[in-house]
Amino acid sequence: MCVFCDIIDGKIPSKKHFENDDFIVIDDISHKAKKHYLLIPKRHYACFSEQTKEDCEKLANMLMNLPNLQSSLGLEDGYRLIVNQGGNAGQSVMHLHIHILGGEVLPIAP
Ligand code: AMP
Repeated sequence: MCVFCDIIDGKIPSKKHFENDDFIVIDDISHKAKKHYLLIPKRHYACFSEQTKEDCEKLANMLMNLPNLQSSLGLEDGYRLIVNQGGNAGQSVMHLHIHILGGEVLPIAP
């Protein structure tokens, strides 16, 4: 069972801000910043090491298009992407996802 697969399948509700054939962007349920979204590939894989070449190309295209979503997401003044990979990084959902944080001045990151 994977919470993000259930969200993608519509079995768990979410606030969806973007969807195409390969990705969704939803509100994180527990905001760590004024705006906190999750960019999630629809295909289930846990981390970058499980990516196929096709997954990688799709993600690269999605990231290239992210600036087109900036204003609809309320991120005109900038944003931060975070990807937790594995236990040491605190990854709690084993379905790749990219945190998108913004909507305010963020604390300086390491
Ligand atoms: P990570 O710790 O990087 O694996 O991040 C997992 C994120 O998923 C956390 O920020 C959680 O708040 C978020 N999350 C868990 N369940 C849900 C859910 N049902 N809807 C939206 N976000 C969720």
